[in-house]
Amino acid sequence: MPVLQSTPALPLRSKSAKKGPAPPTVLTRSRFAHLFRKNGRACVLHSMTRQMLFGEEVLAALFEAFATPLSVASAVASFSGQGISAKMLEEAIDALKEKGLLIGSADEDVLVCKSFFHGGLLQNQIHHMYLLTTSECNLRCRYCFVEDNRHVQPCHMSETTAAEAIQAFARLARGYDEYSSVVIYGGEPLLNARTTLFAIRRLRQLEREGEFPHGLTITLLTNGTLIDEKIVEELKEARPLVAVSIDGPRHLHDASRKDGRGQGSFDGALRGFRLLQQAGLDPSVSCTINEFTLHHMDEVVDFIVKDLGAHALGFNVLMPRVCAASQTPEFDHEFAAHELIRAFEKLRRAGIYEDRVMRRVKPFVNGHFHFKDCMGVGGQIVVSPSGRIGPCQAMLGLDDEKYFPILGQQLSNAGQALRSEMVYADPLFDEWRHRYPLNMSDCVDCFAISICGGGCPYAAILTRGSIWQIDERICFQAKNILEWMIWDTCANMDESSDEASSIEKAKGD
Ligand code: SF4
Ligand code: SF4
Repeated sequence: MPVLQSTPALPLRSKSAKKGPAPPTVLTRSRFAHLFRKNGRACVLHSMTRQMLFGEEVLAALFEAFATPLSVASAVASFSGQGISAKMLEEAIDALKEKGLLIGSADEDVLVCKSFFHGGLLQNQIHHMYLLTTSECNLRCRYCFVEDNRHVQPCHMSETTAAEAIQAFARLARGYDEYSSVVIYGGEPLLNARTTLFAIRRLRQLEREGEFPHGLTITLLTNGTLIDEKIVEELKEARPLVAVSIDGPRHLHDASRKDGRGQGSFDGALRGFRLLQQAGLDPSVSCTINEFTLHHMDEVVDFIVKDLGAHALGFNVLMPRVCAASQTPEFDHEFAAHELIRAFEKLRRAGIYEDRVMRRVKPFVNGHFHFKDCMGVGGQIVVSPSGRIGPCQAMLGLDDEKYFPILGQQLSNAGQALRSEMVYADPLFDEWRHRYPLNMSDCVDCFAISICGGGCPYAAILTRGSIWQIDERICFQAKNILEWMIWDTCANMDESSDEASSIEKAKGD
C-alpha cells in the first residue's frame, strides 16, 4: 500500500464562494508554512492543516519571496522574465493562498491555531485503562523500570481490587462513543495469573452485559516465559490480544532480556509465543529497540516475519532510565528514526503495519490531527497493584503518593455518578491533560506538530526534568517520518502522473 495517494482532502476555500471584502493584495508566509526541498522538487506544507503544494525549484523561490509582506503584482513582476508566464505565477500564488500557506494577516494563523488547540483540550474522556496486576517480574531485563534502581514494593493485585477497578473503569468509559481498551501489565502479569485471568474474564462478562456498547479490546502484555497449556486454555476462552516481548533472534533478545541468574529468556519467551500461536491466538510481538537491536534491524524484522510468523508488531524505542549510573550507552535517536522507517518499509512489503510508525502515518493519510501520543495526557487511568490510580504505568515505584494520587476507593465511592471530570479534578491529572504539543512552546512552530502527539511525558521528566519538555526520541521520529511521508507522497504523485501520461499517450496512439 502506498503511504499516500493524494494530499489530504481538507476543504479548500473556493474563490467563487467567497463573500465580503476583496482579498488582500499583500501577502506573507504563514508561520505554519514550511518549505522542504529534495532533488530539485519543492513542497510547501501547512503544519496544522497538512495542506501541501508540490512544485519545482521556482515554487520554493516564489514562496521564499513572501518572507516579508509582498504584493502579488510585485511578486509576479520580479519572477517574470524567468521563462514563466504571469498567469502561471498568479495561479501558483493563488494555490499557496488557498491552502493557507500565504496569508493576508497574522489573524488567520491565530484562528487556525486556536481551532486545533481547542480540539486537543477536548480529549479528556477516559476510555483506556492499564491494570497492573503485579509489581513483580521474573526477569531482570537490562532496560526495564523494575530493574531501574527504584524501590517498587513487591505487590500482587487482589481480585477484589481488580473487580473494583474494572467496575470504576466501565463507568468512566460509559460516555465515550468509540471502543474502550484495557491493557493488563505489570511487572509480569502472569506472575499473578489468578488476578490477571480473573480480570480478563470479568471484563468479557461486563462486555457481554452491555457495559462497553462500543466495544472493548483487552490486551495482555507479557514476557511470555510463564505461558503454559493451562493459561493458554483460559486465554482461548476470553480471547484477549496477547503481545509477547521478543527483541529479535536469540543473541539479540538474550543480550538484554535475562532472568535473575543472568540467563537469557529467549527459549521461554519463544515457547510461550508458540503455545499461543498453536492455540490460534495469533500473538503479536512487542520489540524494544535498544543499543543492540538498533544496529541489526534487518535481522530483527526477518526473524519476526519469517521465523516467528507474527502478523502484528510494535516497536518500543528504548526509554531513558531513572538511575544515571545504569544509563545505557549513548543512543542515536536520529539513526533510530531512520532505522524505524526502513523497518516499516520492509514490514509494509510483508503486509505488516508496525504500530509506532503507523500512528504517525494514519493522521497524515486521514487528515486527522494527532493531538496526543500518550493516553496518560487525557484518556487513561493506570491502576497500581495496591489499587491507587495515576496517569502513567512507568511511574510505578517512583513516588506512589505523587504519581498515583487517587485512591481506588475515591472512584468506587462515586458509584454511578463517576465521570472523567472527577479524575481530571485532581491537579496531577489536570496538568497532564494539558500537555500536548499545541500547548508547548518548543513545539507550536514545529512542522511535524500534526502527527507527533508530543511523545512520552515520563521520558521528558527523566531526560529534561519536566513533562513540559520534549521527548527527543519521539521528536526525531515524528520529524523524520513526516519528511519521509512528504517525499513518499511526491513519488506516488509522480508515478500517478507518469501512468496518466502513458494512458493519454496510448489513447493518442
Ligand atoms: S508517560 Fe510515557 S510511559 Fe507513561 S503512559 Fe505516557 S507514553 Fe506511556
Ligand atoms: S516533540 Fe518535536 S516533533 Fe513533536 S511537535 Fe514537538 S518539536 Fe515537533
